Amino acid sequence: MIFDVLVIGAGPTGMACAIEAQRAGLKAVLVDKGCLCNSLFHYPAHMTFFTTPELLEIGDMPFSSPNQKPTRSEALEYYRKVAEHYSLDVRPYQTVENVTGSDGAFVVHTKDRFGRLIEHHARKLVVATGYYDLPNYLGIPGEDLNKVHHYYNEPHPFYGLEVLVIGGKNSAAIAALDLWRHGAKVTLVHRGAEMHRHVKYWILPDFNNRVKNGEIAAYFHSNVTSITEESVTLSTPEGEKTIPNDFVFALTGYHPDFSFLEGLGVKLDEANDRCPVCNPATLESNVPGIYLAGVIVAGERTNEIFIENGRFHGKQIAGDLAAKLSP
Ligand SMILES: Cc1cc2nc3c(=O)[nH]c(=O)nc-3n(C[C@H](O)[C@H](O)[C@H](O)COP(=O)(O)OP(=O)(O)OC[C@H]3O[C@@H](n4cnc5c(N)ncnc54)[C@H](O)[C@@H]3O)c2cc1C
Repeated sequence: MIFDVLVIGAGPTGMACAIEAQRAGLKAVLVDKGCLCNSLFHYPAHMTFFTTPELLEIGDMPFSSPNQKPTRSEALEYYRKVAEHYSLDVRPYQTVENVTGSDGAFVVHTKDRFGRLIEHHARKLVVATGYYDLPNYLGIPGEDLNKVHHYYNEPHPFYGLEVLVIGGKNSAAIAALDLWRHGAKVTLVHRGAEMHRHVKYWILPDFNNRVKNGEIAAYFHSNVTSITEESVTLSTPEGEKTIPNDFVFALTGYHPDFSFLEGLGVKLDEANDRCPVCNPATLESNVPGIYLAGVIVAGERTNEIFIENGRFHGKQIAGDLAAKLSP
């Protein structure tokens, strides 16, 4: 089987690309290292999106929700229905390891859950691998202890325990509030003077009030310098402080897999936050036949492209694919 287009990454953007390619009459397949919408699946279990449902829609399929902002499970249900509606060919649990061949005749080499090697053949490729797989590590002693997490899921296991949250954006604020509401003793550390200006307007006052009331301890202009089994050491404007600690959530962001892109031959613009080089109109990269979609297009600026705007990349790419591949 030779596919017209193979999409690496079955997130919302990758799905939008496959749908638009199919609508253009092309044969598309999606390959993902995890399940359908693997990143969304790994978001906090009880999260609510920041975006209203219609802005998460792909393939012109309505996303109806009784809530102003949909929950993670509603979004997962929606994207499952979209995949079913468009009969998307999704190959889950296959990690793309490398790509050989060239425009018109790519060979995509994947490894499945059991370490078996599989090959897929495609004329064109779309890379929509997101950014959620690679956390920004702090590089401090103790970060490798198994009590340190870079993803937050749910609060119950931390009831009654000393939990440190590192970070100053939405994920850190939301995790700190959720942990505190479910009985954890929460301290938040952020290197900035206050929580980041991108923290949503309905989350920030709640967080600030918890700090003002002494319910969540917060250290600003501060860093974590080391982590041990029983404690964490902070560098604060008042000097070094060592406080008891059971768990750490280092929610300091994530980044795209730049070495994967470079392995494909895609050039990164080092002077422009490592944005992969691509034609802004078609999203075809410097490698003929390899297109880029979703959050990776903005390189290190992971707060620029979301589902809201990345979903439109599908139409952009499919237009060019149709022009080049249609008889
Ligand atoms: C907590 C949280 C809340 C958010 N809320 C919102 C919101 O309200 N509104 C909004 O618009 N955006 C929101 N975002 C951002 C949004 O989720 C991302 O921008 C979006 O998921 C990007 O979509 P994508 O399809 O580009 O990438 P992803 O959804 O990350 O999909 C990439 C896929 O590629 C797969 N993959 C990666 N590498 C490989 C490989 N080598 N081989 C095979 N598969 C691979 C991954 O498993 C994944 O399924 C939120 C993000 C977070 C973390």
